[in-house]
Amino acid sequence: MSLDALTLTHSGIQSLQPYVPGKPVEELERELGIKDSVKLASNESPLGVNQALLAELSGYLGKVNLYPDANAYQLKQALSAQLGLSASQFTLGNGSNDVLDMIARAFAGPGQQVIVSEFAFLVYPIVAKLVNADLVTTPALDWGHDLSAMKAAITEKTSLIFIANPNNPTGTWLKSAALKSFLEGVPEHVIVVLDEAYFEYVTEADYPDSVKWLSTFPNLIITRTFSKAYGLAGLRIGYAMSSPAIADILNRIRQPFNNNVFALIAAEKALSDAEFLRESVAVNQQGLVQLMTFFNERGIEYIPSVANFITFRVGPNAMDIYNQLLRKGVIVRPIANYNMPHYLRVSIGLAAQNQRFIHALSECL
Ligand SMILES: *Cc1c(COP(=O)(O)O)cnc(C)c1O
Repeated sequence: MSLDALTLTHSGIQSLQPYVPGKPVEELERELGIKDSVKLASNESPLGVNQALLAELSGYLGKVNLYPDANAYQLKQALSAQLGLSASQFTLGNGSNDVLDMIARAFAGPGQQVIVSEFAFLVYPIVAKLVNADLVTTPALDWGHDLSAMKAAITEKTSLIFIANPNNPTGTWLKSAALKSFLEGVPEHVIVVLDEAYFEYVTEADYPDSVKWLSTFPNLIITRTFSKAYGLAGLRIGYAMSSPAIADILNRIRQPFNNNVFALIAAEKALSDAEFLRESVAVNQQGLVQLMTFFNERGIEYIPSVANFITFRVGPNAMDIYNQLLRKGVIVRPIANYNMPHYLRVSIGLAAQNQRFIHALSECL
């Protein structure tokens, strides 16, 4: 007798498409016997981990018998000082994806609508379907979020809107004035999540300073992460900023020890390491220019990006090119699951890694 366990779940879970992560280096090396491969598939920091941080973290190895601080007192003090908010406005997650999940569980459910944009980050549909809410997807505008379409999609059943700024995988972004007037038009019963996972990389002058909007919009939640520019993806830590009332709700939902000892310490150190962040942003800027120059020279169409990756068009044989790149030891990200089967996404690496990608792709074309 076989049991179809899926029939025991609700329709949201039945329609859920699992998240497909970038291929790990170890997996490629195991499968194809390739040495020295470079992973430009998950928007990770290419800068590695600095020695001072490693030394600091190893000091905590002898304390792993103890639970971490469930309230993350020290880290919240550091965030609070840096961002000019009260410690009661933060909710910490095991990665910011964990916070996105808490938000869906708090504010969406059966009979309620969650609005997302076409080509937006796929974790939003996953968390919306997990709580069996109705997903409403508005068409993209120039690969990015069409705020007018998102506004027009709001009904009395809408409870949550997710906006990625910049968006992954398209690298598109929304300007301060447009986003502010959008927020002004959203009714208070709708929670708006601004996902700023790539915030630190953006150098454009009219990119919003959204933290100051928290005092104006009680329905606004901003999420950020230590996974990208701070280079701590493996430790899993991110956070939300909101009104104290929303943070109180999210912190009730949050599992008490969702941040491990190392993540808490590393995030606190990362916040005070302005030099690492500066280098992260500088290396990324140079890498963006390096790749755009190559794409322009080769006449390869790409979507202009302000984040640490670029999505480019290779045509209907994108999977074939992806596989050829793998055999040359270069891992990029296919994005057919984003309904962009003719595109690939490449993360910005160090100059030599970018060059390796440029060389490998040139050989494939
Ligand atoms: C990478 C990413 C995140 C966060 O990932 P975590 O590692 O869980 O913090 C969130 N949103 C977007 C759009 C991302 O690309």
